[in-house]
Amino acid sequence: MTDSFYRYDVIVIGGGHAGTEAALASARTGARTLLLTHNIETVGAMSCNPAIGGIGKGHLVKEIDALGGAMAHAADQAGIQWRTLNASKGPAVRATRCQADRALYRSAIRRIVEAQDHLTVFQAAVDDLVIEGDAVRGVITQTGLRFDATAVVLTAGTFLAGKIHVGPTQYAAGRMGDPPATTLAARLRERPFGVDRLKTGTPPRIDGRTLDYAVMEEQPGDDPRPVMSFLGSVDEHPAQVSCWITHTTEQTHEIIRGALHRSPLYSGQIEGIGPRYCPSIEDKVVRFAEKASHQIFVEPEGLDVTEIYPNGISTSLPFDVQLALVRSIRGFEHAHITRPGYAIEYDFFDPRGLKPSLETKLIEGLFFAGQINGTTGYEEAAAQGLLAGLNAARHVRQLPAWSPRRDEAYLGVLVDDLITHGTTEPYRMFTSRAEYRLQLREDNADVRLTPVGRELGLVGEARWSRFGAKQEAVERERQRLQALWATPGNALGREVEQALGVAVSRETNVLDLIKRPELDYAKLMRVPSLGPGVDDAQVAEQVEIGVKYAGYLDRQRGEIERQQRHENTAIPEGFDYAGVRGLSAEVTQKLERVRPATIGQAQRIPGMTPAAISLLLVHLERAR
Ligand code: FAD
Repeated sequence: MTDSFYRYDVIVIGGGHAGTEAALASARTGARTLLLTHNIETVGAMSCNPAIGGIGKGHLVKEIDALGGAMAHAADQAGIQWRTLNASKGPAVRATRCQADRALYRSAIRRIVEAQDHLTVFQAAVDDLVIEGDAVRGVITQTGLRFDATAVVLTAGTFLAGKIHVGPTQYAAGRMGDPPATTLAARLRERPFGVDRLKTGTPPRIDGRTLDYAVMEEQPGDDPRPVMSFLGSVDEHPAQVSCWITHTTEQTHEIIRGALHRSPLYSGQIEGIGPRYCPSIEDKVVRFAEKASHQIFVEPEGLDVTEIYPNGISTSLPFDVQLALVRSIRGFEHAHITRPGYAIEYDFFDPRGLKPSLETKLIEGLFFAGQINGTTGYEEAAAQGLLAGLNAARHVRQLPAWSPRRDEAYLGVLVDDLITHGTTEPYRMFTSRAEYRLQLREDNADVRLTPVGRELGLVGEARWSRFGAKQEAVERERQRLQALWATPGNALGREVEQALGVAVSRETNVLDLIKRPELDYAKLMRVPSLGPGVDDAQVAEQVEIGVKYAGYLDRQRGEIERQQRHENTAIPEGFDYAGVRGLSAEVTQKLERVRPATIGQAQRIPGMTPAAISLLLVHLERAR
């Protein structure tokens, strides 16, 4: 019988964004969980930009929050500049983003981890996994300690065989200042996992005191300020500061063009593919040669530090080139670089080797989450971590795995994309990746996921009762407004016309009035006998969106039901794809190669389009 110090239900390797959410989720369900990480001081560390949320990513953070996770709480305690992106667009693509104080974020995550029941932290580098037959049994640390568990979640980020590049210089590291996980990477390469290399990069950091803000454009946060957690409040936010915007110049681009032969990206020194949507500045200058200037967001790294993060000039050019290019930027003429920019290459695993639970198909009880699955970004990592931690704990109890569908969560989209299509470049979330965007909004992440999170044991009492109270308040307000009728002649009708300057030409209840494009909940509450309305902005938003988008939402729900119906629709063996009118040659070829048994399977073939599926369905329907 092993000492309980060495024996756990679930072991999580890595205290980054995936690892902390994995460990927390596992422990929340009651599993005895151990988080093993290189350095306790770097638990919750942000390797790159200290910002949380953004388009697609904010949606993931709200989903993590709806399932009881930590990321949104930490953002609320660390966010020093807040914005709602796409505020003027529809609710589906609206996204919350905050610039975070790096140190406050890290300490918030550490506080949450340390306060979690059933969760133990131990500082150690894991060098190997203990695998018996085809099942994981535990891990071995660098100092030779063995820890046993029924499930292990690996979340090693950019650390597996990590190699840093600054110009021609290269050295092994997990990220700048941290050791790589070289031995573990080598051990894993001995197993038949699909392993390849990816790369990512970061800009040089600058001492903000050496910048001339007078020539930059100030970008204050939004007022009113959004919050990240469904349980959050602006009162938790620390002091607020502005970000700034500046631009590269012709001279910057000339410096870069003149130094491309010294770039590890272009010399062939870096083999891994980088994130398409976060390209390095050298990549942008080459790819968009016609652009005379690129925007740079000048973002503070924290309240008590002078460093800034120049968002938009990630680079791995030699340091002398970095210094010259930085000083050619408007307002950066006297800039002092505090840390060089660099690129890092690392091992990642083909995510097609994973089940929807994020358990590896190869080794029972071994789960992978985060950057090692080919994603990029804290939010993508944290979301996977939560899912893997939950399913690791369920595996221990021999409960069925849980994974949300694509129409239930961005987390479902993320996992389905990864395990079905794999990835050849760092995968990041966008709203455009989801086909049911209107269902998968930030504002309703709690409605979509908190009830199932409660059933899964992830959602505690406080969140559950707050959620219940909010749902009741929404329903109460809907019923109140539905019972109030304005007619052309009655007192309410006249009040509405006078207060809002709109015509009430037929009898209509107030809920329906919200549907009018020129009206919304806030405006209607200005009518004396309707207002002041609910004071909880989340409740008001739910009432308004539920009414304004009812038609679209119903249609989308219908489509989801139809799609689900087709999931098991059989495609006859030997089906003649070439005979389906309108299918492109490429799609026909793919279908002929895979010969899917059902429409569900056909849908998941990489490169398959919804249009192609519709054509197939029409054809099958006719053939019946
Ligand atoms: P990480 O945050 O990397 O955490 C891994 C953790 O595991 C660390 O705590 C590490 O110490 C620990 N660990 C690793 N191996 C072991 C071991 N063997 N034993 C014990 N502990 C171990 N994202 C973007 O969205 N955009 C960007 O532009 C961007 N640029 C980046 C630039 C750089 C240079 C780096 C390093 C990262 C960048 N990222 C970027 C990625 C972002 O940092 C990651 O997506 C995110 O941190 C991944 O979270 P994770 O939990 O998977 O891994």
